[in-house]
Amino acid sequence: MITPDGLDRILAFMPIFERPSASLYEVRPDLSMMDPYVYAPEFTQFIQGLYRENLVIDFNWVAWKDEAAKYLKNSSQINSADLETLQKLITTHVRADRFNSGHLAQMVESGHILAILRRLATIRGQMDASRPDSQQRIRVIQGDITCQRVDALVNAAKESLLGGGGVDGAIHRAAGPELLAECRTLGGCPTGQAKITQGYNLPSQWVIHTVGPVWQGGQHNEDELLACCYRNSLALAVAHSIRTLAFPAISTGVYGFPLERATRIAMAEVTTFLSRSAFVEEVRFICFGDEAHQVYKATLSTL
Ligand code: ADP
Repeated sequence: MITPDGLDRILAFMPIFERPSASLYEVRPDLSMMDPYVYAPEFTQFIQGLYRENLVIDFNWVAWKDEAAKYLKNSSQINSADLETLQKLITTHVRADRFNSGHLAQMVESGHILAILRRLATIRGQMDASRPDSQQRIRVIQGDITCQRVDALVNAAKESLLGGGGVDGAIHRAAGPELLAECRTLGGCPTGQAKITQGYNLPSQWVIHTVGPVWQGGQHNEDELLACCYRNSLALAVAHSIRTLAFPAISTGVYGFPLERATRIAMAEVTTFLSRSAFVEEVRFICFGDEAHQVYKATLSTL
């Protein structure tokens, strides 16, 4: 989670980048070393800070690469970027496996990093007068839920708990066959309820399986059952000392629940829960595709 204090710690490095001759490297006198250039110590601290304050994130970089290129071409776009976009840009620039080595140095020299920091400073300034704490613990992310590094993933499962398509299939594939073996011991799960298993090969320790309602036109208790999925998953999270978790857009795939309606229910349940308890530190909504991402971001901004 990004906190105002964390951003302050990062923004404290801004003067390095404002100096006309930002010295990024230090040349080591020992030329027998393979690479005599190393980052100057304060720059190294800056990079470490970016990781520590969660400005470097997991996301589907390949799908976003073209977007990154647009910001490189027209850096004035940074002036209106949101926090998540800045995180993606920072991740793109500091991860050595993105673009090429030397890329970060170019970004510093061209003033691109300074532009990102200035935008971060503006966003930081707005935070004080900002949303309640419960909403700051929510993140909306576009990507694949199986890549999230959180304590628990929530699975949109079927009543049998024996695997299916969509997000259920993706979670079972990534977790490996032991997940299905454990699910077989659970005896299924009624719609609106939740059950928990280990995460096996997933980066998450736990998987919370909840069964969303099948959309039947809206008159069959669908709203309340969907709200129960979120409520019961969160209750199970607390019972297992889970502090960070990621939800997919439950019921909005094969089960046909209208996306905007489902999103409002998901956000309402999660914000109510977070406002009552500080135990869960972060809830991520993972949007598979651009449409869901836009709907989630718009809904979050209206809360
Ligand atoms: P349901 O049967 O509850 O509708 P689905 O798996 O069909 O479940 O879809 C639920 C949501 O999960 C959909 O919005 C779908 O786009 C999304 N989804 C599918 N695969 C993934 C994934 N790997 N990560 C995150 N969300 C996913």
